[in-house]
Amino acid sequence: MNEVLNNLSIIKKRIENSCLKSKRNSSDVKLLLATKTVLAVKIKIALEAGETLIGENRVQELAEKFEPLKAIPHQTHFIGHLQTNKIKEVIKYADCIQSMDRIELAEKLQRRLEFENKIIDVFLQVNTSYEESKFGIAPEKALDFAVKVNQLDRLNIKGLMTIGLFSAETEKVRKCFRLLKKLQQQMLEINIPVHELSMGMSGDLETAIEEGSTIIRIGTAIFGKRPYPDSYYWNENR
Ligand SMILES: *Cc1c(COP(=O)(O)O)cnc(C)c1O
Repeated sequence: MNEVLNNLSIIKKRIENSCLKSKRNSSDVKLLLATKTVLAVKIKIALEAGETLIGENRVQELAEKFEPLKAIPHQTHFIGHLQTNKIKEVIKYADCIQSMDRIELAEKLQRRLEFENKIIDVFLQVNTSYEESKFGIAPEKALDFAVKVNQLDRLNIKGLMTIGLFSAETEKVRKCFRLLKKLQQQMLEINIPVHELSMGMSGDLETAIEEGSTIIRIGTAIFGKRPYPDSYYWNENR
């Protein structure tokens, strides 16, 4: 069997097992394919097998893969750090921006969307691990940030996103996901519609699902190892 398809079925089993363990319905956990560095031909295999959601980190890759993939119905989320000078291009290709992490970006996006008479879905990215290498709004500032973004009528808030701590210590990783869940509850109480929780990757999807994830973002476990460490894709200066 094709490696991508084989890996997909392994991931599906992992999702099912975690859902069983936490008494959740596996249809409540969506799979987003994190496709940075993956060639369109390989992504196509997954989409043709019925996957419907991909995530890109870099605007250039987002643009390059748009044409080769557009004939196959799917949604594309932007999950990388977004510089304000790339807004115009991102909204051409992405259905959702999961990495909304600062007010300056939100306001510039709002203005551009007004100009184009468009609306876009967003997730607020929170830095739950407090690592300097990771983007995302600080947890202490997240509630205030959510209130502000919620006032921007072109940004349709769908949920919260985080990258968990990279650690073999599950309980430390779990703390990140619990924090995101707690912030979600606080926001829902004041009617900010953050119904989705985008958390969990190849190494920690089980923990994320146990803590309430509704979207897991999987790259390596489906497409294999990437040529550069993740810090490369998360660093603003490259
Ligand atoms: C690359 C990436 C993922 C997927 O990571 P894997 O460990 O390869 O599954 C998820 N989320 C974001 C934001 C990413 O950049």
